[in-house]
Amino acid sequence: MKASRFFISTLKEAPADAEIISHQLMVRAGLIKKLGAGIYNYMPLGLRVLRKVEAIVREEMDRAGAVECTMPVVQPAELWQETGRFEKMGPELLRIQDRHGRDFVVQPTSEEVVTDIARQELRSHRQLPRNFYQIQTKFRDERRPRFGLMRGREFIMKDAYSFDKSREAAQLSYQAMRAAYQRIFDRFGLRYRAVRADSGAIGGDLSEEFQVIAATGEDAIVYCPDSDYAANMEKAEAAAPAHPRPAASQPRTLTPTPGKSTCAQVADLLGLALTQTVKSLVLATDTLDDAGQVAGSKVWLLLLRGDHDMNEVKVSKVPGLDAGFRFATVAEIEEHFGARPGYLGPLNLRKSVTIVADREVALMADWVCGANQEDFHITGVNWGRDLPEPDLVADLRNVVEGDPSPDGKGLLAIERGIEIGHVFYLGTKYSRAMNATFLAEDGKPAFFEMGCYGIGITRLPAAAIEQNHDERGIIWPDAIAPFTVVLCPIGMDRSEAVRAAAEQLHADLLAQGVDVILDDRGERPGAMFADWELIGVPHRVVLSERGLKEGQVEYQHRRDTEATRMALGAVLPHLL
Ligand code: ATP
Ligand code: MG
Ligand code: MG
Ligand code: MG
Repeated sequence: MKASRFFISTLKEAPADAEIISHQLMVRAGLIKKLGAGIYNYMPLGLRVLRKVEAIVREEMDRAGAVECTMPVVQPAELWQETGRFEKMGPELLRIQDRHGRDFVVQPTSEEVVTDIARQELRSHRQLPRNFYQIQTKFRDERRPRFGLMRGREFIMKDAYSFDKSREAAQLSYQAMRAAYQRIFDRFGLRYRAVRADSGAIGGDLSEEFQVIAATGEDAIVYCPDSDYAANMEKAEAAAPAHPRPAASQPRTLTPTPGKSTCAQVADLLGLALTQTVKSLVLATDTLDDAGQVAGSKVWLLLLRGDHDMNEVKVSKVPGLDAGFRFATVAEIEEHFGARPGYLGPLNLRKSVTIVADREVALMADWVCGANQEDFHITGVNWGRDLPEPDLVADLRNVVEGDPSPDGKGLLAIERGIEIGHVFYLGTKYSRAMNATFLAEDGKPAFFEMGCYGIGITRLPAAAIEQNHDERGIIWPDAIAPFTVVLCPIGMDRSEAVRAAAEQLHADLLAQGVDVILDDRGERPGAMFADWELIGVPHRVVLSERGLKEGQVEYQHRRDTEATRMALGAVLPHLL
């Protein structure tokens, strides 16, 4: 490939909405281009990365005995009504209508369609086991699309679905997929952890997420360094004994005291000592009912500085409390502050309090303070144990660092992860709902035992960048670099010797199947090097007239701090 004919378009500055390094670098390197919220063009460089990711995933899926097909992006609603997910899935599911007013969905995943295929095509136990997979566009109307490809609305997923005749056989299929996933993520050179995840009520106990370790990950993962215990936070929470809390909360009455703000009164009630910087209290919850009462189980208490005008946020008032004390949903808080409440710096109050105000009872559990201790000088509070920054309020629960591990083999550690893959034993949840059966050995119809297995194809490069970058740009693992080698000739337009050597080396490398790009754009060396360092091509060969006179070129790996001189003839064997 020649750069003059390819498309290279780099940026000095990252766009303002790019909060994390992978998003910034993917935009700056010209891999992706935003079209709308959570919707991106995969530009030529980015597409090359995705194709390589897909190729590896495809190879390992095929090796594991899965067979590829492609299911439609737009799917008739009838199938989704059979399982009830057309209604149940909520606003993440994009529903559309055709010109006849018929309902369709844009697939967020494909259990219904693949189960429909199975109930028609797989009639006998002799056709089992079978595993169908696709690498296909998905759409999820994420509440908060962000971080570029990391949490897009349109994205590409590899989704596989296994069909088996028995629970035991399904568990073998599950284990085969799990092993394939390990091979896949090893090939990408990622640091990751397989963690237990919640499999839902019906799915049995087999569900694991593959989490790429990264400080910017949206998930918290809990593990024991001294054993193989690892779980995501939800799963760890479910297994953990409740932390000691103050004795069952006695309803406490907040009797408005004239001349004292409600904010201060609530603070008193909770044993908080507020300083002047804290001007208001907000209670955030997942859900508010129409009357403005807390309907969810989690309530977060946020202490806010005076410079945030909560009046701008559509909040529900608690009757009897003044303007300093309000309820808001977490979504509203996020929208208002452009961040999750936890970004204020989380500290867990671990209190369970019932407040009775004007005979309106609001039950508040899992108190979490979203204020930053230093900023706000809050004293007089039982803070519990501090969690490492940057952590999110949502993750502050019963499980904290240093708790004993459930297997009793050590103490728990917590780190952040990016969910890159998910393997899931489904049981007969979908086959039952859709009456998908095969003829079993005893001649009777039986429901398929199913499993589903996802990998975020477009999320993967973003996760890889979170783990592989420096101040100059991306450092791709060879396996998924847009190009593995870049040839940078200096003064190619002036020097016939440089041109000839560069063209020849380019042709030789191509002939050997090396994925090489020749930068024949005529850029100055500084700009040329900066581009390729930003783009992150792992191997660079610089050809100059001076070096070539001695038969030498300069080789530098993207991780090297200096170039090494090398005989021109040694380049090819070195790169193979
Ligand atoms: P998350 O917890 O991040 O929302 P999920 O659990 O909803 O992901 P799954 O339904 O398990 O996702 O889908 C399988 C895989 O698809 C995930 O492991 C992830 O790699 C990828 N994925 C899910 N949602 C997105 C998204 N919005 N953008 C990019 N990739 C995604
Ligand atoms: Mg999700
Ligand atoms: Mg998840
Ligand atoms: Mg998942």
